[in-house]
Amino acid sequence: MSSLIDTYGRVHRDLRVSLTDRCSLRCTYCMPHDFAAWLPSADLLTTDELIDVIESAVAQGIDEIRLTGGEPLLRPDIVEIVARINAIANPPKLSMTTNGLALAQLAAPLVDAGLSRINISLDTLDRERFKKLTFRDRIHDVFAGIDAARNAGLKPVKINSVLMRGVNDDEAIPLLQWALAEGLSLRFIEQMPLDAGGAWSRDAMVTADEIFAQLSTVFTLTPVEVRGSSPAEEFYINGGLASVGIIGSVTRPFCAACDRVRLTSDGQIRACLFSMVETDMRAIVRNAELTSEQKREAMAKAFQATVKAKLPGHGINDPTFIQPTRPMSAIGG
Ligand code: SAM
Ligand code: SF4
Repeated sequence: MSSLIDTYGRVHRDLRVSLTDRCSLRCTYCMPHDFAAWLPSADLLTTDELIDVIESAVAQGIDEIRLTGGEPLLRPDIVEIVARINAIANPPKLSMTTNGLALAQLAAPLVDAGLSRINISLDTLDRERFKKLTFRDRIHDVFAGIDAARNAGLKPVKINSVLMRGVNDDEAIPLLQWALAEGLSLRFIEQMPLDAGGAWSRDAMVTADEIFAQLSTVFTLTPVEVRGSSPAEEFYINGGLASVGIIGSVTRPFCAACDRVRLTSDGQIRACLFSMVETDMRAIVRNAELTSEQKREAMAKAFQATVKAKLPGHGINDPTFIQPTRPMSAIGG
């Protein structure tokens, strides 16, 4: 089996797969509430095409796949996609990041199809705030989704939270108290410049240091030593076994240990969330003049070339930084 190694010696093992750019929420840091510039359906990879690209990635050494979006549970054949990825020879570890709205219906079938790990995004415990933050009155569906995930046997259920100044920055402690009481594993993520409106500002971002300081007023946090390629800095809470993660994507970049590649729902691979270039896998899988073997060779070359061209870091903190035109919802977080 080949490996995807870049010019800085980073071995890429993790593929983030966006299944759709559509979403059932409109989180302000991700998508404007009146967003309508969806990708045309004909541009999205079909499930057969998607599996071809994933098989190619696995042959190149990818051993971990996270399904995301947009909202991955909006993909009508999501259960079939999970089952088909699990049926690949040497199946990768499979996880999903979701807003959880449809989990009450889908958690059990997804587990039956082989899903074993899940992250659910929730930035507030307050119904009114949730409405303001997402433009939808659906916090009850997220809570029902979390319950369904636990009942279906997904363990641990991880919660992702983004804090924003003046919006929900008073919820670091309540969110952690709630997560501990519910037996959930919580990770805070710094807000990145990936909103569709280009309105991100450094001042509005609640930094990893601020989150740590806030939590430390109530909890004793001790660093967990082994980090590996995980973006989260983990801390044991009050000397116990439970931990909390803080992902300082902007102020404490972890690019030197990054092992990720991304596949957008329209079949483009990106070496980084902040890439300005993409490689078109859809053109390869849809090329009727190529045999299956030729497609496999072309996809392998495309994965290798994309990773070879990966830059050392995301560059958010460089004066020359330019935000990518694709918002987070169309890249896949
Ligand atoms: N819809 C699913 C969800 O919300 O979990 C999956 C896609 S969403 C893009 C994946 C993750 O990216 C979520 O945890 C979300 O909070 C996070 N995210 C979105 N925009 C972000 C931004 N600008 N900065 C940091 N995290 C962001
Ligand atoms: Fe949708 Fe997830 Fe973006 Fe929120 S963060 S708008 S749930 S894709």
